[in-house]
Amino acid sequence: MDTAVVVAGAGPAGLMLAGELRLAGVDVIVTEKLARPSGESRGLGFTVRTMEVLDQRGLLPRFGELTTTAHHHFDGLPLNLGGLDGAHLANKSVLQSQTEEVLEKWAVEQGAEIRRGHELLSLTQNDDAVEIEVRGPAGGYRLRCAYLVGCDGGRSKVRKSAGFDFPGTPATMEIFLADVRGVRVQERKFGETVPGGLVMAGHLSDDLVRLIICEHGSAPRQRTGPAPFEEIAAAWMRLTGEDISTGTPVWTSAYGDAVRQVTNYRLGRVLLAGDSAHIHLPAGGQGMNVSIQDTITPRPRPTRS
Ligand SMILES: Cc1cc2nc3c(=O)[nH]c(=O)nc-3n(C[C@H](O)[C@H](O)[C@H](O)COP(=O)(O)OP(=O)(O)OC[C@H]3O[C@@H](n4cnc5c(N)ncnc54)[C@H](O)[C@@H]3O)c2cc1C
Repeated sequence: MDTAVVVAGAGPAGLMLAGELRLAGVDVIVTEKLARPSGESRGLGFTVRTMEVLDQRGLLPRFGELTTTAHHHFDGLPLNLGGLDGAHLANKSVLQSQTEEVLEKWAVEQGAEIRRGHELLSLTQNDDAVEIEVRGPAGGYRLRCAYLVGCDGGRSKVRKSAGFDFPGTPATMEIFLADVRGVRVQERKFGETVPGGLVMAGHLSDDLVRLIICEHGSAPRQRTGPAPFEEIAAAWMRLTGEDISTGTPVWTSAYGDAVRQVTNYRLGRVLLAGDSAHIHLPAGGQGMNVSIQDTITPRPRPTRS
């Protein structure tokens, strides 16, 4: 064996799992296809349960001073969760890129080996081990491990190669997201209805605004690259009448509302966690939070003092 466990993917799920395995004294190698972190921040903030599990691992102080809130919504209906038991409220401001940075540093401190620029290409398993083929900066090589965990995202190569069943419903629409600098737009809560669709505009910093656009009748598309900013600006103009075309897009994305979940999280010596095991519309802000929670055996819920 080269190691006890190989984790494919250094997103929030893979990094949290790597730290957890090391805490249990298990050797782990993480193979991540990107040479360096993308810096993208799909997720924002922590749900209450994620705050609890990060606290249980002593990780919360690493995020600096965290502002928390009791104010949430369920399908647009305001909800105040302040009256519930628990030691924490939710946070809505930590960027996913910061979460990944903190988790990676923690996992490495625990002794995890993270190999960036190493893409898992294929796998085979038998009763004794899993063999994986990896392409790294210096060429291809093989790794033999007791268990492989696919934390390689919604299009998981591990899930497909190992033959997991992934039933659900396909996307019916396309939604745009853009983080844009240098534009002046009205602040809009998630789910604000305008003629022709739903929009959101929330400032991530003084000069950076996150826009979400969900236009009625938009057809789902398989894109090979990021969504063109011109298309996003045109949709924003149609729905809000605001011109953002002169802004600078920092990150754009297009995604759908497909919902799928594997029927098993384990097939023999291959396991899945995070988006590789479940995908859904990110509107509820759950995906990263659930992915982190997939990988940890939490202690019981603490109570608020
Ligand atoms: C627009 C948008 C907004 C979102 N907002 C929120 C939010 O507010 N709150 C929230 O909780 N969630 C949110 N999410 C969901 C969240 O981003 C994901 O659920 C989360 O990133 C899943 O983490 P993961 O580690 O499972 O997968 P990923 O973050 O996708 O990480 C997978 C990793 O695997 C690597 N990889 C892929 N294939 C291979 C391979 N073959 N070999 C090696 N490495 C590989 C990838 O490079 C990547 O680093 C949002 C998603 C989107 C699209």
